[in-house]
Amino acid sequence: TKFTDLNLDPKVLKAVADAGYESPTPIQAGAIPPALQGRDVLGIAQTGTGKTASFTLPMITLLGRGRARARMPRSLVLCPTRELAAQVAENFDVYAKNTKLTKALLIGGVSFKEQDAAIDRGVDVLIATPGRLLDHFERGKLLLTGVQIMVVDEADRMLDMGFIPDIERIFQLTPFTRQTLFFSATMAPEIERITNTFLQAPERIEV
Ligand code: AMP
Repeated sequence: TKFTDLNLDPKVLKAVADAGYESPTPIQAGAIPPALQGRDVLGIAQTGTGKTASFTLPMITLLGRGRARARMPRSLVLCPTRELAAQVAENFDVYAKNTKLTKALLIGGVSFKEQDAAIDRGVDVLIATPGRLLDHFERGKLLLTGVQIMVVDEADRMLDMGFIPDIERIFQLTPFTRQTLFFSATMAPEIERITNTFLQAPERIEV
């Protein structure tokens, strides 16, 4: 498979070429086509396999096809740690550099001020840790009813860190009609249960 066979937005293809990527990794070749068709994806992949691009590239392409909704985030990426969320945000900036899509990074350990300002301005994509996302929600700053694409990254680490109840709650704050891209390195029974509950006929890709 080549990137140019994948039906990605030309702006995304250009960013990928600029990044020096020659061909998609197996998780990218497996996850990008169903994601672009609007299907739910269950990706079983470790860090280092290129899984970040496997959800970010189709997400940017799909958001570019849709219309911006004033002040409403259309996509939400949940990460277990601040560091991982910051990495995903950096990746997003690289892959979305030729688009007008905007993002906010919602992580703990920093003041609410800048994050509040970004939410008020309106962003397309939220990249967040579960605790800080729910803090914003409980402060009445954030509605997730416009979320069309939700990504859960490193679900196995979410489980280890006790975040599964938070994840379930966040799922329930987003529309039932959302598309879900869900990634985990392993499939513990608790992870299997969550995916059975919240994913709809997912394409399962194991690398
Ligand atoms: P990840 O598994 O998402 O943490 O990605 C691991 C590393 O692989 C990152 O440094 C990416 O920039 C890089 N990467 C992702 N996709 C590709 C690709 N198709 N070709 C070469 N490098 C890639």
